[in-house]
Formats: sequence, structure tokens, C-alpha cells
Amino acid sequence: MHKNEIPGFQTLVSLALDVRWSWNHEADALWQQLDPQLWSQTHNPWVILQTMATDKLQQKLSDPQMRTQIDALEAAREAAHAAPTWFSRQEGASDVKGIAYFSMEFMLTEALPIYVGGLGNVAGDQLKAASDLGVPVTGIGLLYQQGYFRQVIDASGNQQAYYPYNDPGQLPIKPLFTENGEWLRIQVPMPNAPLWLRVWEVTAGRVKLFLLDSNDPANPPFYRGITSQIYGGDSTMRLQQEIVLGIGGWRVLEALNLQPDVCHLNEGHAALAILERTASFMASEKVSFDTAFSTVRAGNLFTTHTAVAAGFDHFEPWLMATYLGTYAAEKLQLSVDQLLALGRQNPADDNERFNMAYLAINGSGAVNAVSRLHSEVSKGLFQPLFNRWNPEDIPVGYVTNGIHVPSWESRAAGAFWAQVGGETGWQNGGEGPAAAILQAPASALWAMRQQARKSLVGYVRRQSGNPALFDEHTLTIGFARRFVPYKRPDLLLRDPNRLVRLLTNYQQPVQLVIAGKAPPADEQGKGIIRHWLQFIHDYNMSAHVVFLPDYDMLMAAHMTGGVDVWLNTPRRPWEACGTSGMKVLVNGGINLSELDGWWAEAYTPQTGWALGDGLEHHDDDDHQDALEAEDLYTTLEQQVVPSFYQRNAAQLPEAWIEMMRQSMAVHTPAFSANRAVREYTLKYYLPGARAYQQRAADHAAVGRSVAQWRKATDRAWDRLEIGEAKVKQEGNEYVFEVPVFLADLSTDAVKVMLYADAVDNLPRAEHELQLTPSPEKTAVVPAKPMQLYRARIPVVRAAADYTVCLQGKHAQAAVPLENRNIYWQH
Ligand SMILES: *Cc1c(COP(=O)(O)O)cnc(C)c1O
Repeated sequence: MHKNEIPGFQTLVSLALDVRWSWNHEADALWQQLDPQLWSQTHNPWVILQTMATDKLQQKLSDPQMRTQIDALEAAREAAHAAPTWFSRQEGASDVKGIAYFSMEFMLTEALPIYVGGLGNVAGDQLKAASDLGVPVTGIGLLYQQGYFRQVIDASGNQQAYYPYNDPGQLPIKPLFTENGEWLRIQVPMPNAPLWLRVWEVTAGRVKLFLLDSNDPANPPFYRGITSQIYGGDSTMRLQQEIVLGIGGWRVLEALNLQPDVCHLNEGHAALAILERTASFMASEKVSFDTAFSTVRAGNLFTTHTAVAAGFDHFEPWLMATYLGTYAAEKLQLSVDQLLALGRQNPADDNERFNMAYLAINGSGAVNAVSRLHSEVSKGLFQPLFNRWNPEDIPVGYVTNGIHVPSWESRAAGAFWAQVGGETGWQNGGEGPAAAILQAPASALWAMRQQARKSLVGYVRRQSGNPALFDEHTLTIGFARRFVPYKRPDLLLRDPNRLVRLLTNYQQPVQLVIAGKAPPADEQGKGIIRHWLQFIHDYNMSAHVVFLPDYDMLMAAHMTGGVDVWLNTPRRPWEACGTSGMKVLVNGGINLSELDGWWAEAYTPQTGWALGDGLEHHDDDDHQDALEAEDLYTTLEQQVVPSFYQRNAAQLPEAWIEMMRQSMAVHTPAFSANRAVREYTLKYYLPGARAYQQRAADHAAVGRSVAQWRKATDRAWDRLEIGEAKVKQEGNEYVFEVPVFLADLSTDAVKVMLYADAVDNLPRAEHELQLTPSPEKTAVVPAKPMQLYRARIPVVRAAADYTVCLQGKHAQAAVPLENRNIYWQH
């Protein structure tokens, strides 16, 4: 008998193919019963089903009790998916057809290794939160045959990179079939031959993720490996992958007739989806490129994750022409130059490379950064596109990232929260039981912490093969992230003797768990790993410091679940957000971090420790590193270590437990993916869907009007003039009168503003002037018909502080995002 024919097997398949098991543990006992050994090794139900012998399965499934258990679990899963959700209660929710979420990587479970790190973490955790909240998101990504490299450290401390093959048969995914039973395949343009893509389906609770894969036998050999390695190869391969993601991804949605209103681009990698969405709209509505582009952009959201300009993808013009020239001509009615202009700061510069972030900005209705500080940084990065605009007007909002709490909560923490806050704990998202913890006894918090640390110590022992390593009661500090210089993973090594004293203090010892991969081509990063191993060796610190090779999601969960302190030392402001520190919150770990990324907005003295002065120092890195290393040692020596070891009569570290309590109660809900996805929904998805529908209605009447307005302002802008402004004071008001020549623009296409910079204790001021109804005495320059604009504003500062400025204006469009023209009075 084939496995598929065993009664009950298909129900197991449904359970195993829903990676909800990565955060909901109600079926754990079932998998454990089916194959205790495999379960403890893999925690991957799909591998159990694939690997178990048929007769053994048959025997297990012939037990009526087991069958009842399986049916009950499947019924519970289906009921959970059918229950009313947060999203269904939002106003306007029923009008939204869907949100497509494009990302080069997704970190859902270590059983599906299609991620590198932070970006994939954000994507995976947001998909899961969307499932919890019922937000109708569909993910689009790539299935990599090899994924990211696996790390091995050789005897001399060198990082070696291995690329084991991801056997699709062992991954919790299934081929996506069309209605008539064929494997769904998608075609995308490539220079030599069209590329066929296979499509795989991942189920994550209520949400689907579709993965594209070029390893189809129908493809020529030089194309089959396009989706082989994540961020692998050269810039040609990167562009090929982005064509697969953006163009192929949109075509999958079309093939499935999903018609999302909102297209969320997680980083600029996905920006080609904008072009394909435009092409598709042009074809179905029979409208021009400009009208289609202006229509669909209202429904596109671009999330930037980069803190340096070099982080954006750039492609040489010839490469773009080779790969997308024909596509642009045939599908978009654009010349190569017109195509390139969409990704350039200066469209007239033939040498300027195509910047994917610029395409994303040009083609989106909103742009957001991933923390408050990062939005400030991003405004600076995008300033070149918004020439002459004030930095604070550059349209980059922010939604601070969050983590999917149920996925990152340790067993000990899960049991603790259930005990203090009710059985479901964080399972259903929301504010969870945060408030309940304020009443929990200190002893319960500490018992949880002790147990979680113990379990991490067990993990470290198993991973290192040394059953005597580490101590269950010692203050345990964790550090794990990519080993790249700006993260300064060796800041603690600046004064090795001082670190040794800290670790080996007989009364108050410290142990350190370290992990992280250096990018395969980053020699400096690999050097930092060697630096740690050398330190451990030279100072004989192997009882106090362990470097665990091959950092991945599972290891991250063990570490963030068990450490007492999570250390983070990026060079401000390079960390766009950071998420690993958020994973310790639910588990009662405390952050000790540079005031960068999310910690710059989260930190309070009640909830953790801060490094640095909260300022950027671009001039002398080495000097700054020395100061911050000093700050780090001092904080550890004088605050962290003494607080941990100071015990009351009941042997409890009271101050420490209070800090844990505050951090858990205040930060866990605030830095959850649940909060982030609710914010995305209310701030961007619902308004974006409405705006797109409004522009698309009546064969894109509004979209067309936005496009025409843009064109008209671009054409006329150089001819606009501001005449001599007059100001007089009437009582405690100024009356400004400004004549303006609008060339052939209509008065509702332009906004006339008075603007004053912030000075001393006065904030910046903006006032819109109103068109005066009667054109009396407006002919200041007789040859040109001037319009007269007037404003009455309270006298709070010198009249000379104000400058007149012209901007584009359209009732349905975002300025300056959609119209960057600006004219300042000289
Ligand atoms: C959470 C996580 C990250 C992201 O952590 P940062 O704080 O952004 O460095 C990277 N890799 C893995 C495996 C993770 O689990």
C-alpha cells in the first residue's frame, strides 16, 4: 500500500503542511507519538511523514484513538482559521481584495531555509502575524535550491561555507496545481529564451506564500540555477532573480486571479513588480503607461530596510537594456531611456546606474522605514531624489518592526505566561497577557528565568559536544548576528584582560554565547570570528565563552529564549531596526544595546541598558569604538553583573527581576509583529487599497488625472514666477500678498506656501496662501497675468523669516512623493 492510501494519512498531510506548527504547539504530542526520535531531532512534522516507514505509519494510524486525536487536531486547525479576526472588524476591510507581500527571503521555520537573516525574519514574522490577525496577505518569494550557506569553522578558526541541497520533497511545501491538475508554471522574459518558473505553495495558518523556482527541466541549463543561492552570483544573477520575484511574482497572482489591491515591496529587490502590475493594468484597461503607472502606484507600498546608500541594488544601464529593453517596449510602451529614468536621480545622465529603491519610490503611493531613527536616516538617503525639499518633508514614514511572539517564546516562558495570564498566552496575538505580569510573584519570574537558562545551557552542551560546559546559575550573555564590521561583534575584545576579569570573577562569573555568520566574501567579518576563537584559545576562556557555528533560526530561538542579557553593539545609525533583541523580551531576557534601531525608541532605564550617547559620530570610528567599549565594560562591571548577583533573603535578585518584569510588560506587545501588522494595515494597507480603487474606477479616471497633472506641472514648472511679495501688519496679524504667474497651469494644480524654518524656540511654520477671488491690480509684470494669493497669519516671528514656495497640488495625490517640483522665491 502507498502511504497516501492509508486512511487518515491525508489529514496528517494537511497538518504537516501548515507551518502553523512553528508557533502553535497543540499537535506536538501527536508528532512525538508518531516518531519520538525523529521528532526530537527535527521538530519537523513533514520530515516525519516523509521518512516514516509505511507499515509503521499504517500500524499507528490503525489505532482508533490516534485517529480521533488527529481528526480533533485538524478540526481545531480549521476552526482556528474560520474564527472571526481582528481584520474582519476593521472598517472598510470587506472592500479589500488582498495584499501581496513580496520579499527575497522569508524566515518561517528552519525547516524551510530560504532566508539569510533580519529581512527574512521580518517577512516571515509579519506573514504569521497577518495570519493571526486575519489580514488577507499573500506572500511571494523564491524557492532556493541551496539557500544561504551553512557555516563550519575549521581547526584554524576559518569559516567554511557549505551549500547543501534543499530537497523540495523534504520541505513543507507542495507544488501548486492549476484547476485542471497541471503544475502551475509561469513564464518571464529573459534575453535568450523565456524562463519557465515552477510555483510552490506554503501554508502558514490563514496565509499562503507562493515560491518561484527556476529549476524546471524545460529551461536551458544556464537559467536553471537562477534560484539556486540567495543573494548569490553577480549583479546579472541578482537582476535575474529580481525579474523572477517581481515580474514572475505578479504573474502568479494573476494566474490565481487574486487581484490584490495592495502590493507591499519588502525592500527594493521586489520593485519590478511595479512594472508588471502596470503592464497588466495597461493591458486590461487599455490605458497608457502614464495612466496605469499613476493608478497602480497608489496601491504600492515600499518598505526600505537599508541604512546606507550602498545597500540599494544598482544595475548598469546595459544590463537593464539587455534584460528588460524588449519587455519595456512590448509591455510598457517605453523606450530604454524612459525605463531607465524610472530608476535614476537624473534621467538625463546616461551613465547613472538604475537604482531599484528609486524605482520603488517612483512607483509607490507610500514609503516607510523600519524604525523611527531609520526614517530620519532614510530621509537623508533619499534626499537626492527630493532636491531642494526640506529634509523633514521627504516622504518616508515608519513602522517599527516587531517579532511574532508565539514563534519566539521559549517553553519555559510559554508555561509562565499561561500561568500568570491565562491559557492562550500570546497565541492569539494582541496585547496578550502583558498586564498580568505586573502582578506575578517575583519568585515565579525568577523560576521561569532559571529554567530557561538551564535549557540553554543544555543546548550549548549538546551543540558543543561538551556535557560539562557552562553553569546553570551563571549570568549568561548572548550575542548573535551577522559578523560584519559595523555590528562591531568584537567590541568586547578591545581590552581582553578586562574581559577576562569580568568572565572569571570568582563570586560573580559571566558566561558568553556567541554565534553568527560572516558573509562568504567578507574577509573582515571572517577575521572577527577568528578574533574571538583566538581570544578563547589564547586566554584559555573555553569554560566561559562559546562560539556556536551555523547560526540559524533554531539557534536564535534557543539563544534568545535562554540568555539573561542580549548584547548588541552596532555603530549608530547603521542598524535600521534589528529584531533579535525583541525576541528576548517575551522570554525575560534584558537588552544591553547601543541606542540604535528599535532600541533608540524603546530604551528606558527601567527596561534595560543603553550604550553610546545617542548621537552619530562619523568622523573617527576608532576613537568612538574605544569610548563605547569603555562604556560597555563599565556598564557590565558596575550595573549588569552586580544587579544579577545581588540576592535578597529569599535568594532572589530583586532589582533584576523588576527590570525583567518591566521589559516583558512594556516592550513585548510594543515590539511584536502583531502590533507592526496592525499598524501597516491601518496606516497603509486600508488607505492604499481605497486610493488604488478610487484611481482605478471608471477606466482610471483619477489615475489619468494624476498623470496629466504631473505631466503638466513638469512641463510648466520652469516658467512659473513669483512676483514681489507684500506684507503689512494689521493688529496682531500679518497680511501677505503674493502675485504668482502659473504659466498654463490651473490654479488647483499648484499650492502657494509661506514657509519659515525652525529657529531658537520657534518651530517651523507653513501656511497655504489662498487665491484672492478678484484679480484686481495683479498685473505687476504687465505681460504676464499674475494670480494674487493672500494669507493672514498671526504675528509670532519676523515677517522676514517667511519665504514663498510653490508646490504641486492634487486632491488625490501625495506631494512630494508623486510630484517633486518645488520652487522657492529667490
Ligand atoms: C532574528 C534573527 C536575525 C535578525 O537579527 P538582528 O537583530 O537584525 O541582527 C538574523 N538571523 C537570525 C537567524 C535570526 O533569528
